Amino acid sequence: MSDPVLEIRGLRVDYGLGDAAVHAVRDVDLTLHRGEVLGLAGESGSGKSTLAYGLTRLLPPPGVVSGGQVVYHPVDGPPVDVLTLSPAELRQFRWAETSIVFQGAMNSLNPVHKVSTQLLDVIKAHEPRSTAASRLARARDLLRLVGIAADRLDSYPHQLSGGMRQRVMIAMALALEPQVVIMDEPTTALDVVMQRQILGQLAELRERLDFAVLFITHDLSLLVEFSDRIAIMYGGRIVEEAPAAQLYGRALHPYTEGLLHSFPALRGPRRELTGIPGSPPDLRAMPEGCAFHPRCPKAFDPCDKKVPALGAPVADPGRAVACWLHPAATPVPH
Ligand code: ATP
Ligand code: SF4
Repeated sequence: MSDPVLEIRGLRVDYGLGDAAVHAVRDVDLTLHRGEVLGLAGESGSGKSTLAYGLTRLLPPPGVVSGGQVVYHPVDGPPVDVLTLSPAELRQFRWAETSIVFQGAMNSLNPVHKVSTQLLDVIKAHEPRSTAASRLARARDLLRLVGIAADRLDSYPHQLSGGMRQRVMIAMALALEPQVVIMDEPTTALDVVMQRQILGQLAELRERLDFAVLFITHDLSLLVEFSDRIAIMYGGRIVEEAPAAQLYGRALHPYTEGLLHSFPALRGPRRELTGIPGSPPDLRAMPEGCAFHPRCPKAFDPCDKKVPALGAPVADPGRAVACWLHPAATPVPH
């Protein structure tokens, strides 16, 4: 595996303070390697967006990062903890080192400005000494890169389809050649054909430009197709992590198994669609022990008492899972 570019260590994010705080992200450890696509999946409310907002320090109040580190490794220079950057350093970090495409980002294009103005503004803000001609050439290249004709620079957002607007947002995210691109449900608002077209294009771009992607979605089937590794989130914790093909071939966590049985098989023999009974936990009243135990068909004695930590199971040392079914499981430290 390539070197890490972003290491999330023990990240905790709460909504509110003191006894009233809701712990939406709990002790998350996650490493993104250079040039890889890491998928993050889980049902609605599992904490995926909170994790993305927390690690980029874009969390709106009452959200607070209450612990952990987010270590970014620049191509040259020493690693930095994003959580300790000054506001000026943070501005540089966003877009230039790490850029973000959020859910419904296409609606964040300014309707009264042409696409050209918005793309050129991003480039100019970070490269004030570049010439107008070089910025224009760059903007045209970026549009072509995401499969849009360069003459669309003169369009206003309302003159573009939803898919095109979302691709413009992806072009903006790539404008400064960041090392990391975080995408939170970037294609959810689009139809299935358009989703796959954009993701296929993204995979191609990643091959050429070699950025790493943290791709967040509730749709595990998309991740199986488009990511190198997959992490599964439940009740604010990562409960399983594995290379995409291995996870699809055999899930180690009963929750992952349930997610895999919620969509038709992508290849191989057909499998029964069973879904997952019950609903995700209420973060204000989390069950004791493993958060999944009220829904888990395999729950047994320790499950409702102790929370299993994410660790390597004996039989699959290259993977990680948080479940008492695996003999090497240990409880999370208090
Ligand atoms: P979705 O796919 O629906 O966006 P998600 O997995 O991204 O879901 P989050 O949006 O991160 O989940 O939400 C995680 C939890 O934090 C949810 O249970 C939600 O109720 C809670 N939460 C989010 N925003 C707030 C807030 N402002 N105040 C209190 N709790 C919040
Ligand atoms: Fe199910 Fe127990 Fe594993 Fe949780 S720890 S997923 S309840 S078997």
